[in-house]
Amino acid sequence: MQQKVAIVGAGVSGLTCGVLLAEAGHEVEILAEATGTAITSGAAAAIWFPYDAEPTEKVIPWANRTFVVLQQLSRRAESGVSMIEIRQLSRERKIEIPPWAISLGAKHLRPTSVPSNFASGYTLLVPLTDTSRYLDYLATRFRQASGQIRIPLHFDRLDEVPPEFSMMINCSGIGAKTLAQDDELEPHRGQVVLVPRMELSSALVCDDLPLIYIIPRANDCVFGGTNDLSARWEASRKQSQEIVAQCSRVLGIDAPPILSERVGLRPYRQAGVRLAEDRLGDGRRVIHNYGHGGSGFTLSWGCAEAVKLLLEGR
Ligand SMILES: Cc1cc2nc3c(=O)[nH]c(=O)nc-3n(C[C@H](O)[C@H](O)[C@H](O)COP(=O)(O)OP(=O)(O)OC[C@H]3O[C@@H](n4cnc5c(N)ncnc54)[C@H](O)[C@@H]3O)c2cc1C
Repeated sequence: MQQKVAIVGAGVSGLTCGVLLAEAGHEVEILAEATGTAITSGAAAAIWFPYDAEPTEKVIPWANRTFVVLQQLSRRAESGVSMIEIRQLSRERKIEIPPWAISLGAKHLRPTSVPSNFASGYTLLVPLTDTSRYLDYLATRFRQASGQIRIPLHFDRLDEVPPEFSMMINCSGIGAKTLAQDDELEPHRGQVVLVPRMELSSALVCDDLPLIYIIPRANDCVFGGTNDLSARWEASRKQSQEIVAQCSRVLGIDAPPILSERVGLRPYRQAGVRLAEDRLGDGRRVIHNYGHGGSGFTLSWGCAEAVKLLLEGR
């Protein structure tokens, strides 16, 4: 008899694992407290870009694999994935282009293309997942492959998952701090602001503090951002105003109105993404897939494929 698999978590990690496993013929249910804009995945910008996740030697291969899958999805309009030019900016005199970006064709920006608030930058074509559509797209694909989603369900411990499931995939993001009793997880809180749609030819990103994201999407534009060690889910109006002021200064425009604010807790783990098999006290198998920090979308397909290999014992 085929084993029933429970995925705990309906963010990008849980939904991507769900799609991959259900389409491969596994009997899978996703059990989660929430999904959509209420969770970290719903707050993400979400551009393909390795950031705030460890360790590099695993992150880059997972990211490269995800790049290929997202690039393919960008040809399906319903996915909410598109390819976009990203301009990675720095306040340093000469930004260093990381090796993974060079192999994807990154080029230094000419000084005339660097906004006046920055000193250097490079340009690269990457996938952009519009989270307002992509999470729904994944959920629809999962259901079409006979997957079921049960929300809202809260667990204090993984062994509370009903016994009909002999196998679990733990994709609970920052929730793994209590669910897997993992003290190494740190909430790297991020806040972004949605403003009306803008015609911009590229996304602008700066990872030196203060962080800047300006990401044009089909129906709005994402302005960001922050990265603080904090588990506070409420949005701060003061931070939103600072974000809007900074991004408007970079673009040389008057501050646009704020449509909405989003907060997420990047599940950062100093020891690195936890993608490994474990056993619960009651003998059931669990595969952990959490701790993706600021790169959950960027690593999603690479990690889901690694989970599938573990599940199938390969
Ligand atoms: C402002 C911001 C911008 C970002 N930008 C990017 C970006 O550009 N590119 C990128 O790749 N990444 C980005 N990230 C990071 C990315 O959002 C995260 O890495 C990713 O969302 C983590 O996804 P996840 O599915 O692992 O966890 P989550 O999205 O947190 O989902 C966890 C799921 O587990 C469930 N859960 C948790 N605990 C329990 C429990 N006890 N019982 C039941 N269910 C539970 C939750 O309800 C939820 O469904 C950004 C994050 C933020 C905050």
